[in-house]
Parts: sequence; C-alpha cells; structure tokens
Amino acid sequence: MKLQNKIALITGGGRGIGRAIGLKFAGEGAQVILAARSVDQVKQAASEISRATSARVLPLVCDVTEVASVEWLFKSVKEYFDRGPDIMVNNAGIAESAPLIKTDDEHWNRHLAVNLSGTFYCMRAALPEMIELGWGRIINVASIAGKIGGPYIAAYSASKHGVLGLTRSAALEVAAKGITVNAICPGYVDTEMTTRGIENITKKTRLSADEAMDSIKKMSPQNRIIEPEEVASVALLLASDEGRGINGQAINVDGGTVMF
Ligand code: NDP
Repeated sequence: MKLQNKIALITGGGRGIGRAIGLKFAGEGAQVILAARSVDQVKQAASEISRATSARVLPLVCDVTEVASVEWLFKSVKEYFDRGPDIMVNNAGIAESAPLIKTDDEHWNRHLAVNLSGTFYCMRAALPEMIELGWGRIINVASIAGKIGGPYIAAYSASKHGVLGLTRSAALEVAAKGITVNAICPGYVDTEMTTRGIENITKKTRLSADEAMDSIKKMSPQNRIIEPEEVASVALLLASDEGRGINGQAINVDGGTVMF
C-alpha cells in the first residue's frame, strides 16, 4: 500500500481521469475526497470506489473557479479528516475549441478560470498545511497542449501553458520542505472530454465519428488514445514516497507525440 494514511483531494473527481486517479489512490490505501460541480457524479463515483476498495471516499461539491467554494472545500476536508490533504490533484478542467478570432471573452475567461485559476486557488489552499507538516504532493493535470500549441485551442492551450509555469515556480518554492509539485501532460484520453471533442469535429467537418477518432489516434505514434488508468498510474508514482525525487516536472503520457 503506497498511500497508507494519506489524504488525497482530487478535483474533477466525478468522472474520467479524476475518477481513475481516485480509484487508484484508494486502492493504495489513501482516503480520498472527490470534488466537482455535479453532485450526482461525485456521489456515485465515491460510492463505487468505496465499494471497490473499502477506502473512505468523500464526495464534495466545489466549483474551483470560485474562491469561496474552494475555501468551503478545504474547510469541509479539515472538519471531516481533522487535517488538510497530503496529496492535492488539480484535475478539474474544461476544453472547448474555437478559432482565435471567434474566441469571445466568456470562452477565454472560462478556460483560464477553471484550468489555471482553479489550480492556483487549490494549490494556495493546500500548501500551508503541507509546509507545516513537511510533506506534500501537488499533482496538476495539464496537457501536451501546455507544451505545444494547436489550431482552435488558443484558450485551452494558453491555460495549460500557464499551469506548467505555476507548477515549475511552486516546485522551486517548496522543494526544500518535503513537498513536490509536478504536472502530468496527457495526450488524448478516453473520457467524456474526448467524446465531446469528437462530436464537435463531426459537427464542424464532414468526418464521421469513427473517422474523427482515427484522426485523433493518428496524432500519436502509437496510433491510439490513452486510458485514464495510465494517467492514474503516473499520478500514483508522483504521489508516492518513491516519487520524492521528481519535482517541477511535466510528464507526458501521450505515446510519444511530444518529446520534451
Ligand atoms: P472530463 O470532462 O471527463 O472531466 C472533467 C472533470 O472536471 C469533471 O469531473 C468535471 O465535473 C470537473 N470540472 C469541470 N469544471 C469544473 C469546475 N469549475 N469546478 C470543479 N470541477 C470541474 O475530462 P477528463 O477527465 O478528460 O479531464 C480531466 C483533466 O485532464 C482536465 O484538466 C483536462 O484538461 C485534462 N486532459 C484531458 C485530456 C483528454 O483527452 N481527455 C487530454 C489532456 C489533458 P463537473 O462538470 O461536474 O464540475
């Protein structure tokens, strides 16, 4: 059990990558908090994970774009577990596409608010107690779009580039305090986010859903998309004691699409 006695808070934990990380961590002995906006999803994910692993899994509703909601989340964790999280996974995210000249203020601000500011608010709330305890793990789920650009994803890509800057700066700030701060940069992952992306491609091009999926797969030298569990396995390494030497990194899980 690699995460015995650890408390792990995972945003965007109701489905997809966040849920897979929750399941992986709970299976390694962590007590897990799953936070997202959809109450039904976090509740269902929590009860399924708890049943599968016998771990204590707490579902909490939080909108990471709102400072008050993040403060309430941390207060609730403290009330329930008597301390804050040892492991903070900033996974909540949105991804929509638009040509840059049609990217309106709302689209731009929403991406920055969820993907970048939400990550910042949770890091700022999680770090003080980690510093006090002398142990902590921050894991930010970014994207390979945080390393390279792409057409029609200016807001998403800019927000994820921001997450990497935040990760690297924080990693240096807390390096000597027993805390690591890292990012994971997946390529396309088999989740609802990718399903919605495919729907969007079929609406905007003449491609069928299968053709759209094939075009996405071809972006990877492995000609496939990543399973959420593969991202969760990297998160486990970063969260564990074995991963203590990994700090300030942005680790790609993309089959080799991006090599830096
Ligand atoms: P999903 O859309 O399946 O899940 C996203 C999760 O984030 C949901 O639980 C959602 O719940 C939550 N969320 C969204 N907005 C907020 C908010 N304002 N406050 C709290 N929670 C929120 O996506 P994935 O699992 O695929 O994505 C997870 C992360 O991985 C994201 O950061 C994404 O950018 C990144 N990623 C995904 C890739 C992919 O191909 N799928 C590739 C590279 C990176 P709710 O809506 O209920 O709030």
